[in-house]
Amino acid sequence: KQGLKKTNRLLNTDIRDLFKSESEGRLIDDEFLDELLERLVKTDMGVQPAMDTTEQIRKDFRARVVKMDDMVAVIKTKLKELMAQESAPIQTVEQGPTVIMVVGVNGSGKTTSIAKLTKMFIDDKKSVVLGAADTFRAAAVQQLTIWAERLGATIVTGETGSDPASVAHRAVAKAVEIGADICIVDTAGRLQTQQSLMNELSKLHRVMAKQIPEAPHEVLLVLDSTTGQNGISQAKHFTEAVNCTGIVLAKLDGTAKGGVVVAIRQGVGLPVKYIGVGEKAEDLALFDADAFVDALFD
Ligand code: GDP
Repeated sequence: KQGLKKTNRLLNTDIRDLFKSESEGRLIDDEFLDELLERLVKTDMGVQPAMDTTEQIRKDFRARVVKMDDMVAVIKTKLKELMAQESAPIQTVEQGPTVIMVVGVNGSGKTTSIAKLTKMFIDDKKSVVLGAADTFRAAAVQQLTIWAERLGATIVTGETGSDPASVAHRAVAKAVEIGADICIVDTAGRLQTQQSLMNELSKLHRVMAKQIPEAPHEVLLVLDSTTGQNGISQAKHFTEAVNCTGIVLAKLDGTAKGGVVVAIRQGVGLPVKYIGVGEKAEDLALFDADAFVDALFD
C-alpha cells in the first residue's frame, strides 16, 4: 500500500463509516454531504478540492439512496481528475551525466531522499556522484557521506562554511571526469533571508549550467508531507528562488493527511515525481496518481 496506512485509515475508514454497511445504501441528503465535506477537509486535501468532490457527489446522487462503493468510485474519479498528473520519472540524458539539484528546507527529508534516489539509480546500474553542497550543515555532509559509502556512490564535499558553488562545480567536474551517469547536488535548506537563499540557489544553478549547458537537468523540491499545507508555501518560496522541475514528497508514511498530495497538485504547478514512504533507502516510489488514489481506498 505504499506506506499509506495512516491516510488510508483516515480517508477510507472515515468515509466508508458514513454508511451502516457495505450493502446497505444511504440517502444522500444535506446532512450527509456536510459530513462528507468535513471528513474530506480533515485529510488536508484543501477546502476547494473537498468542496468540488462533495459537489460532484451532490450532483450525481442527491436525494437518492446510494451504495458505499458507488460513492467511493465517484470520489476516486474526482480525486484522480483533481490531481491531473501522469507519472513523471527523472529522464536521464544520453550523454551523461544527468545533473540533479535537490532543494528543500532542513528537516524535510532532503538527505534521505537523495540517498533513496541514489539507491534507485545504483539499482538501475547507473553510477552516481553526490555533491554535498550544503556546506552550512556539517551533519548533513556527514550523513550524506555515510549514505554514499553504504550505497556505493562517489561523494564530493567541502569544508564547513566553504563556498557551496565550488562544491557543486567540483561534483559535476568529478562526474564528467569519471564518466558517471548521475550527479546529485544537495543544497542549503535555510539561509538568513529569502534573498540570500535565492542568490545562493541561482548561483549554484548558474555554475552547473556553465559546465554543462542543460544542467541541472532536474531541480527537485523535497517537501515534508507531515507539515500538510505548509508545504505549499514552502514550494512558493523555492520556486521563486529557482526553477524547480518536480517534487519529492517525503514522509507520506508518517501522515494521516495524505490528501495533502491533492492540495499540492492543486496549489503548486509542479509534478509530484516521487514519494517517500519510510526511512530506508528503498522507501521511495515513483508517484502514480491513479495508483495512489486506488491505494487510499483499498
Ligand atoms: P533533511 O534535513 O531535509 O536533510 O532531512 P533528513 O533527510 O535528515 O530527514 C529528517 C528525518 O526524517 C530523518 O529522521 C529521516 O529518517 C526522516 N525521513 C526522511 N524521509 C522519510 C520518509 O519518507 N518517511 C519517514 N518515516 N521518515 C523520513
